[in-house]
Amino acid sequence: MTVTKKKTKKPKKPKKPNLRKLVKKAFSLWSECARLQHDNKCEMCGIKNKEINSKGKPTVLNVHHACPRENKALRFDLHNAIVLCVNDHKYGKNSAHKGSIFFYDWFKKYRPSDYEYIFQHKDDPPVETIEQVQNAIIELELTREILLNKVDNAQGF
Ligand SMILES: [Zn+2]
Repeated sequence: MTVTKKKTKKPKKPKKPNLRKLVKKAFSLWSECARLQHDNKCEMCGIKNKEINSKGKPTVLNVHHACPRENKALRFDLHNAIVLCVNDHKYGKNSAHKGSIFFYDWFKKYRPSDYEYIFQHKDDPPVETIEQVQNAIIELELTREILLNKVDNAQGF
């Protein structure tokens, strides 16, 4: 006869939040908010998410950091977010990654206040501790709520 021992569970310690996971969550919220803010369209060419592009494929939208995400002061800031189709983001000759001189000229022309904002805030304290990233998440979740309400109102709900 085998006696099965009842396993006694140790009381769980409250888990410390994982910074990497929080950062990932914050980036994903940042990206979602930017898309909502810009109507799910590429800011440069106006093509919509999933709309069939010139190559016959559904459009994929990316959200680009005007000032690279390595600048931790601005990495979750929506002033620093630009919604672009993959062509205007990475592959086109005037894209953010390949033709940065044209791209920055465009940004300065079409989003002048955000351009100024980035220069004013580039040396702000970094958002890097668990608590700071958690606060950024709370702020982005609120922004998302507001943006979603706006979408609902625009659709007459
Ligand atoms: Zn585009």
